[in-house]
Amino acid sequence: MVVNRHGIDATIYELEASATARHQGSVLDMHEESGQLALRKAGLFEAFRKIVIPSGDEMRLLDKSGTVRWQDSGNGTRPEVDRGALRDILLQSLPANCIHWGSKVTRVVKLEGGRHVYWLECPVTCPHC
Ligand SMILES: Cc1cc2nc3c(=O)[nH]c(=O)nc-3n(C[C@H](O)[C@H](O)[C@H](O)COP(=O)(O)OP(=O)(O)OC[C@H]3O[C@@H](n4cnc5c(N)ncnc54)[C@H](O)[C@@H]3O)c2cc1C
Repeated sequence: MVVNRHGIDATIYELEASATARHQGSVLDMHEESGQLALRKAGLFEAFRKIVIPSGDEMRLLDKSGTVRWQDSGNGTRPEVDRGALRDILLQSLPANCIHWGSKVTRVVKLEGGRHVYWLECPVTCPHC
């Protein structure tokens, strides 16, 4: 997302067969210095704010009887989001057809000048190959 936003045409080769091939799992906490910073650089911070789970960073420790022994109401600096909702934002921000689903990178070799050459295994049905 970040390189595309800066005018560099990039292609993503993704092993998974499609955007819906796998459930993305539960929630993710997004830290200011890493995940949130990346979203800011990708111009997606406002979209991210809309999917933040209110009080998602609140924590409670309960004993065996269910009595709350420790509680932290969170401070909003590392809010929780649903992984699927976050991935939707990221995928929607990309240009059409820049992801080659079901493409396995099998080998990467570093060249001079920061360039790389790579080998791919693509599905027979790959519309790009
Ligand atoms: C249980 C758990 C909880 C976590 N909770 C948090 C959290 O709350 N907050 C947080 O910030 N981090 C959390 N993390 C860490 C976070 O998930 C990882 O740091 C992050 O996903 C790493 O991103 P990545 O893009 O490097 O790798 P990945 O997310 O693993 O992405 C790699 C991608 O490459 C694809 N791929 C793999 N091999 C190939 C190949 N040969 N060819 C083509 N494509 C390929 C895979 O299909 C995958 O889509 C958690 C991790 C785990 C396991």
